[in-house]
Order: sequence, then structure tokens, then C-alpha cells
Amino acid sequence: MDGKTAQQQSASQKQTAKNNQKRILTGDNATGKLHIGHYVGSLQNRVKLQHDYETFIIIADMHALAYPKYVKNPETVARSVLEVTMGNLAIGMVPEKTYFFPESAIPEIYELGIIFSMLVSHNRALRNPTLKEEIRDKNMGDKFSVGFINFPILQAADILCVNADLVPVGEDQVPHVELTREIARRFNSYYGETFVEPEPLVGETARLVGLDGNAKMSKSLGNTIYLNEPEESLKKKVMSMYTDPNRIHPTDPGTVEGNPVFIYHDAFNPNKEEVADLKKRYREGSVGDVEVKEKLYKALSDFLAPVREKYAYYEGHLEEVQEIIEAGTVKTRKEAQETLAKVKERLKLDLV
Ligand code: ATP
Ligand code: MG
Repeated sequence: MDGKTAQQQSASQKQTAKNNQKRILTGDNATGKLHIGHYVGSLQNRVKLQHDYETFIIIADMHALAYPKYVKNPETVARSVLEVTMGNLAIGMVPEKTYFFPESAIPEIYELGIIFSMLVSHNRALRNPTLKEEIRDKNMGDKFSVGFINFPILQAADILCVNADLVPVGEDQVPHVELTREIARRFNSYYGETFVEPEPLVGETARLVGLDGNAKMSKSLGNTIYLNEPEESLKKKVMSMYTDPNRIHPTDPGTVEGNPVFIYHDAFNPNKEEVADLKKRYREGSVGDVEVKEKLYKALSDFLAPVREKYAYYEGHLEEVQEIIEAGTVKTRKEAQETLAKVKERLKLDLV
């Protein structure tokens, strides 16, 4: 052997079977529009890597139903499938290179999800920091559904149905990818080599704080700047952002670390000298919040202007968006059918 483990060899054989091109599976819940948190956590990597990987983008409309707010609101979920696709396209995903599909259109995912749920203990399913965080942040109390606890297992089916190698995600999703890896490992050890163990890839800003200072910008928490945020509301949102609460006057020395406006400057202001100068003056108390925010507004406005324009194009050409989704679904379904057939064969569930 050339120094590779048996597992690595088998994984690389599978890649050869996939025309040597590795695969990405990533995506977003159909719970509203995409925002700049999605960009730094996951979209930035998707856009960059789409040229090197065969890329599948799931719009997780089944997963959306795991949240009490959306299970009662099918119209919002359906509209979000289009919004999320348009957001991906506007930020730079190339439709000719990417397969977009709604999760609900791939029934093989549900079948795989049920099979995978047999491989995960109840305790293990509950031992998930992201689920606990969401229960707290989204005030779910003890009213969460069985589907919500099953969320990461269904996500494993999303990822493994196309046997993805890489999963670009924000930090909050890493525990879910870890469970996917456990499921792949267990499946392979029980039934023979079948799945690649996918790697998570976390973005440059692993978890972007919300406008309100909440630890996570989240479409369900309403503390977001959308990718197609109109210019006027962008300005309003930036100018009313949460900063250092202990700083009353521009002459008070302020804290830069963990301060949302500076986190956003670091992520979105390409003028690094300007950012360094603002930080220095903020620390010594020689710049007002207004100047810091105005410069941030300018940086975000420059970044979002072309995205907003492209988004508007797709809003005016919904039939194009629909076609892109249909083509991606056909391809994904074919892959998922092959995966499920193999899984059923391994489990001897293929009598008829
Ligand atoms: P919801 O609150 O409905 O779950 P969300 O804003 O968390 O919405 P998702 O669709 O769950 O959005 O996330 C899509 C992708 O974007 C995931 O990879 C997630 O980790 C990433 N992501 C979401 N919010 C952030 C954020 N604030 N910072 C970095 N990455 C994020
Ligand atoms: Mg989420």
C-alpha cells in the first residue's frame, strides 16, 4: 500500500467512480431569505469551490418543517425555496455548474433518513449542542417535534445521498456533519464500504453575530442583513447596530474585540488600513460610532450592490429559476436512487 489506510483507498476508489471530481453537498433551510451570515459561513466557500467540485445545493424544505414557525406556514416555505435559490445565484453560484434541488423532491432522502435513524441511539441524537442552542434561541421550550430531534439524521441523508466529500457550512452545523460522519462510519462497518466520510469546511467567519449582538445572525431571529437588502434599510440597520454598550461618548475608550461593527468591518471592508485606523481610534476614544458605522455601511453597500441587481434579475425571471431547480432535481434524484438501491442491497431490503 502507498501509505494510505484501507479506508482512504476505498474512498479514493469511489472518487474515481465519480469521474475523479470530488463532490460538495451544502445548502440552506427554506426558512426565509439568505443573509450575509450565510455568505461568510458557507456561501463564500461554495462560490469559490464550485469550479473544483461537483456541487449540489439542497434547499431544505423538509427541514424547515422542523420549526414550529414554519410547519404552520407552507406558503412561506414554498416561497423560500425560490428565495434561497435566487440568493445562491445572486451571490455567484453558476447554474450550469451547480445542481439545485428542493429536499422534498427527493423521496429517497426520507427513506435513507429512516434507515440511518436505526443507526443512532436516542441519547446520541439528543446530545447535540446546536439543537440545544436552537431550542433556547428560538424559544421552543419542550414543544419541539420528533422531526426536530431527527433534523441532523435527515441531514445525514441529504449529504450521503450523493456521497459528498465536502460540506461547506457555518460553525453551528459542524455537530450535524460530525453525526453524518458517525453514520457513514457505522454503516460502512456494519454493511461494507459504501459511504465517504464527508469533511465539514467552515467559512472565514465561522459564526457571524446578529445586528442585535446575538451570537448568531439567523433568519429565524430577525437580526439580519439580507443579500438583497434594499439600500435604505441597509443604512438604517447598520446605523442602529449594537456596539460597545459601555461606551457613551465618542471620547470614551471603546472595546473592539467582539464588537459587532468591527466583526462586520473585518468580514466585509476590503480597506484593511481604514479598519485598522478605526480600531485604533475607537480604542483610544477618538472616533464616534457614527463614523465607524458610516464606513461600514459604505463597505456593505459596495459589496451588496451587484448582488442585489442580480437578485432582481432572477425575481423578474422566475421561470429561469424554476428550470434551474428542475434540472438539478433530475440529476440529484438519479444519484440518490443509485445510493438508495445500494443501501437496500447491503441491508438485504431488496427482495422485491
Ligand atoms: P434558521 O435560523 O432558519 O436555521 P439560519 O439563518 O441558521 O436559519 P440555515 O439555512 O440554517 O440558516 O443555514 C445555512 C448555512 O448558513 C449553514 O451552513 C449555516 O451554518 C450557515 N449560517 C447560518 N447563519 C450563519 C451565521 N450567522 N454565521 C455563519 N454561518 C451561518
Ligand atoms: Mg440554521
